Amino acid sequence: NGLIVSFGEMLIDFVPTTSGVSLAEAPGFLKAPGGAPANVAIAVSRLGGKAAFVGKLGDDEFGHMLAGILKENGVVADGITFDQGARTALAFVTLRADGEREFMFYRNPSADMLLKPEELNLELIRSAKVFHYGSISLIVEPCRSAHLKAMEVAKDAGCLLSYDPNLRLPLWSSADEARKQILSIWEKADLIKVSDVELEFLTGSDKIDDASALSLWHPNLKLLLVTLGENGSRYYTKNFHGSVDAFHVKAVDTTGAGDSFVGALLSKIVDDQSILEDEPRLREVLKFANACGAITTTKKGAIPALPKEEDVLSLIKA
Ligand code: ADP
Repeated sequence: NGLIVSFGEMLIDFVPTTSGVSLAEAPGFLKAPGGAPANVAIAVSRLGGKAAFVGKLGDDEFGHMLAGILKENGVVADGITFDQGARTALAFVTLRADGEREFMFYRNPSADMLLKPEELNLELIRSAKVFHYGSISLIVEPCRSAHLKAMEVAKDAGCLLSYDPNLRLPLWSSADEARKQILSIWEKADLIKVSDVELEFLTGSDKIDDASALSLWHPNLKLLLVTLGENGSRYYTKNFHGSVDAFHVKAVDTTGAGDSFVGALLSKIVDDQSILEDEPRLREVLKFANACGAITTTKKGAIPALPKEEDVLSLIKA
């Protein structure tokens, strides 16, 4: 099994026990491990793949708890460092009545933002087949330089570069800055996944159609994916494009659905990238990834809801 290295932040989401109330009104919070790149690593591992997480945590109880969760889930933890000064990042989540989420972050700065280029485990990164990342690690130095160096080392080692911008607008100084920085590394990626919301944000168009998706195409890209929640996903390659329907489930919390989708996709292509050029096989993989995303919405939290291969196969059969 080829190794998938996921780079970036891991944090704790504090999710209110009651939906549709403000943070001030929330009677209590559940402690939920999160951070998109960490979710992706665990998603891969749950499905039987080999994953490593690279990032920095606080040398505090939360940081060690998160490292423990990665290890319990079989994720290689050799790329984790602990910051002696800064704390593990926290996010307080508001669950609005319409099911959408808002985040209030505690990062002033948090340990993940302080990862330095010289702290990277380059040997681990070079041993990967796929290197996956988001954009939160691009926001401030020194983590930004660490992110850019890790990408460069992965690219030079021949890794497939997988990018999910995972837009968190409140973390950026402005929307223009977010768009500019997210797009600044666009052309390095072999595989990009955006959500419908990110597609609108990045293109500035309120249309979610083939033309707007294709405006994000770049010549070196192998696969562009647009996820559409309960409407499934769309795929674009140099030679073909199409869409794959979602599975009908009773969604209770969509947190981590996109990460589960990405983890599933990466775990299926890591050992056979020819799938990216073979539409029928790619559609099978995306059906599997849609099923993973769907299952992840049926339980609260991201990591607790990530499925095993057998759960996915039984949803597909049903
Ligand atoms: P993100 O978490 O990045 O916003 P999505 O919410 O679009 O991503 O979810 C990723 C995938 O998970 C979708 O493409 C879809 O296949 C599946 N999914 C998400 N929400 C639902 C839902 N309510 N019902 C069924 N499948 C869903």
